[in-house]
Amino acid sequence: MATFSELGLSQKVLSAVEDAGYTIPTPIQIGAIPPALEGRDLLGIAQTGTGKTASFVLPMLTRLEKGRARARMPRTLILEPTRELAAQVEENFIKYGKYHKLNIALLIGGVSFDEQDRKLERGADVLIATPGRLLDHFERGKLLLTGVEIFVIDEADRMLDMGFIPDIERIAKLIPFTRQTLFFSATMPTEIQTLADRFLQNPEEVKVAPPSTTAKTVAQRLVAAGGKDFEKRAVLRDLIREQDDLKNAIIFCNRKRDVSDLFRSLERHEFNVGALHGDMDQRARMTMLHNFKEGNLQLLVASDVAARGLDIPDVSHVFNFDVPIHAEDYVHRIGRTGRAGRSGASFTLVTKRDGRHLDAIEKLIGQTIEWHKGDVSSLPAESEDTEKPKAKSRRGSKSERAETQNSTRNDKSSASGSGKSEPKKKAANNNENKRGKRREKGDLPTPVGFGDDIPAFMMIGAKR
Ligand code: AMP
Repeated sequence: MATFSELGLSQKVLSAVEDAGYTIPTPIQIGAIPPALEGRDLLGIAQTGTGKTASFVLPMLTRLEKGRARARMPRTLILEPTRELAAQVEENFIKYGKYHKLNIALLIGGVSFDEQDRKLERGADVLIATPGRLLDHFERGKLLLTGVEIFVIDEADRMLDMGFIPDIERIAKLIPFTRQTLFFSATMPTEIQTLADRFLQNPEEVKVAPPSTTAKTVAQRLVAAGGKDFEKRAVLRDLIREQDDLKNAIIFCNRKRDVSDLFRSLERHEFNVGALHGDMDQRARMTMLHNFKEGNLQLLVASDVAARGLDIPDVSHVFNFDVPIHAEDYVHRIGRTGRAGRSGASFTLVTKRDGRHLDAIEKLIGQTIEWHKGDVSSLPAESEDTEKPKAKSRRGSKSERAETQNSTRNDKSSASGSGKSEPKKKAANNNENKRGKRREKGDLPTPVGFGDDIPAFMMIGAKR
């Protein structure tokens, strides 16, 4: 079994890895680190959760030990499709670069230009950026990319989905041809292969198997629920309260509208809950994620797109409020728990309408998922597929309100104590919206989620 010390990394990096508590490199790290240290181009086919970030951060840190940054001329550039992923990469550089004196600049939208300018001015060893904000800085004349020695394109297939490829092509032309390029993608559709062929010179190819199986340490269960939203919400609440070992959980919904509805409902029922969806602005999302990671929030309601790629370690439970429409999303969702050999639990609410999607999931993961107390055939007949378009009320349905009044207060007390958190939509006014369809599909024009009405609990102990 390989160890980190066999991979050729510097002593400073090895010490930081040891401090982080990692002893055995993951397959992508074993495959990617040695060629990256030699200065070779790399094509890494791997997704988040495989240790991919460290596979480029560790060799980059080692290589950066020689040389110094000059003002406005970053030495390395890492492109990420989303602000959260960019911030996560920055966290990795801070964690593994604790024995280095490196300047790190993070250029992401939704944050003021001034502070970012100051960091560039000082000379950045590591520049981490989303493509839109990077080009904004370039156009303002604040940035020269001619000193970039290492260029990383991360999550290329997501960049494609988000319409970023023309921006990336433009950026690549601004970087010297002699650079080292590290290119990562979870999948290799033709467009991405073409791009890789153009950007990479004689690359080392490292591929790790995409998880089509769920970790054995995760207990997976199906839970029968009536087809109406309020019935599903009641089942979910009972299920959450039943879990003695629930440390924290992510609750996935298929639609972002349902994320808001479910979040408000759980909040009304006094759960310690937050929400993460594509309409929230940068500050709100980062604060929310931070509070969840720090344990200030126990539950996080999220959509697939908002949660994809986020590194949230140590989640004890995953609840699928809806059966995902794409079977792969099930694997992604379940992958949020049971990480690194820990045990986890997942529960998927299933209505009588979900049969087809459930079959596809079981086929993909190659196993039948057990039911937690009786399957859907045990449901009363009136729950079947009778949902009418409901007159939506922020205060919930009549039966739900009655239930709220009668319910004994849950001891998982709400940190907000307020239900006044209706997301407000405002048009974002930054330049990022102007280029291509930059965000989650269907999200344009980009509204700002909570606007000025950020609920109090989201502001707890935010570092950023
Ligand atoms: P990533 O694929 O980069 O998103 O990493 C997924 C998670 O694995 C992160 O929480 C990392 O901190 C963690 N990780 C990275 N490398 C290792 C390793 N060699 N051993 C255990 N965990 C790791």
